[in-house]
Amino acid sequence: MASTAASPAFCGIPKASTSTSAARASIPATRFLAKNPLRGLGFSAAAAEPLLSHHVATKLRSFGSSSAKPVRGVASMAKKSVGDLTAADLKGKKVFVRADLNVPLDDNQNITDDTRIRAAVPTIKHLISNGAKVILSTHLGRPKGVTPKYSLAPLVPRLSELLGIQVVKADDCIGPEVEKLVASLPEGGVLLLENVRFYKEEEKNEPEFAKKLASLADLYVNDAFGTAHRAHASTEGVTKFLKPSVAGFLLQKELDYLVGAVSSPKRPFAAIVGGSKVSSKIGVIESLLEKCDILLLGGGMIFTFYKAQGLSVGSSLVEEDKLELATSLLEKAKAKGVSLLLPTDVVIADKFAPDANSKVVPASAIPDGWMGLDIGPDSVKTFSDALETTKTVIWNGPMGVFEFDKFAVGTEAIANKLAELSGKGVTTIIGGGDSVAAVEKVGVASVMSHISTGGGASLELLEGKELPGVLALDEATPVAV
Ligand code: AMP
Repeated sequence: MASTAASPAFCGIPKASTSTSAARASIPATRFLAKNPLRGLGFSAAAAEPLLSHHVATKLRSFGSSSAKPVRGVASMAKKSVGDLTAADLKGKKVFVRADLNVPLDDNQNITDDTRIRAAVPTIKHLISNGAKVILSTHLGRPKGVTPKYSLAPLVPRLSELLGIQVVKADDCIGPEVEKLVASLPEGGVLLLENVRFYKEEEKNEPEFAKKLASLADLYVNDAFGTAHRAHASTEGVTKFLKPSVAGFLLQKELDYLVGAVSSPKRPFAAIVGGSKVSSKIGVIESLLEKCDILLLGGGMIFTFYKAQGLSVGSSLVEEDKLELATSLLEKAKAKGVSLLLPTDVVIADKFAPDANSKVVPASAIPDGWMGLDIGPDSVKTFSDALETTKTVIWNGPMGVFEFDKFAVGTEAIANKLAELSGKGVTTIIGGGDSVAAVEKVGVASVMSHISTGGGASLELLEGKELPGVLALDEATPVAV
């Protein structure tokens, strides 16, 4: 784990009279050695996921070679995986699979993005190829009771096409008609239950409803990462009645990266946090401060940090009630030896609009009446140089108002930098939400190590919270690494 940090580093931003370079101090290399010991990962999904296999193998190699002493890690967050279940466990068994097939539909009920259906396929294929009978459950939209607009019927053709079998759809998710369809389901068949949120009992996690869902099956697989942060009947309640209850490949991969790779990163480990407000990212920043070596901040939140340091921020977004918090985060970073970098320059605009007049100014020289909407070129260079030293990077939140092309440059530059680093073997994790939209916009999503499929669930994992839908699953057999 001998890492040197050649990156420039400073905590906070230079004052107006201070040159950027003078304000920087080098990161002591020894600090990277003093980080937490390894924690285990849920490695079991690797077999079914070639990309993950590669990363897991890389992790194992790096763990093996980087420790002076052999380290025995027990997988604290590792859950039993569907990959642990063989034909002997699955043949002829009825498996309740909770997936997240909440795809966008247009006005004519056509699927406009099938990513979520494709993401669910590896788990379903594993089950049907081992002779299981799959009872597939998902929600779609936010229905209030039975709402035809949110029926799952439009999903059946695409799901059938991707699985290579005709998927049968039930008109309900519980009850005698569903039970009949389950009874006639052949080995290797898939029955799609109707939208589970047609019942209000789903989101209330009512035990009687969970019991009815569970009574359809012998065992349970949760592959719905996007809803794993909610304790609903189909994500948490059913686990009380079905054993084993295991993680699907998609859920497992999210845990491997958002918990495993973040808790036991190849170092140096950088976190990039952006987005609109510091208040919505406090938990993530505090949690990542415990784990990372370098923290790069961008987006609207930086102006609260600037103001806390006594700088003028014009009409930029500021949370006046978070000024003390910003100061305390800067102090915490310093105390922990984390190199916290704020942008040295910003792109300012005379109004919040795509066609606003804009110019680049030092962070310390934002004039009245102007607002910062992106990080500037000097900041992109400083951030890129810092990222160049890393072996793991996690990114959550855009660097600017990337929805407006004029203010998307900083965000796109970071996306491209991460793509370049991925090509050099750096583990790059895009932690959900708008950063995913940004890497997709730039067209570099496919080269990243991991793109999280969850918004709220990713954020909660990065905050260090345990997700109810994950917590409820069976523990993996501890693996010595
Ligand atoms: P979040 O959901 O917290 O990750 O925030 C994402 C949003 O932050 C995006 O819609 C961006 O437009 C917005 N954002 C990024 N930078 C700024 C900025 N400097 N001022 C205002 N909003 C911003």
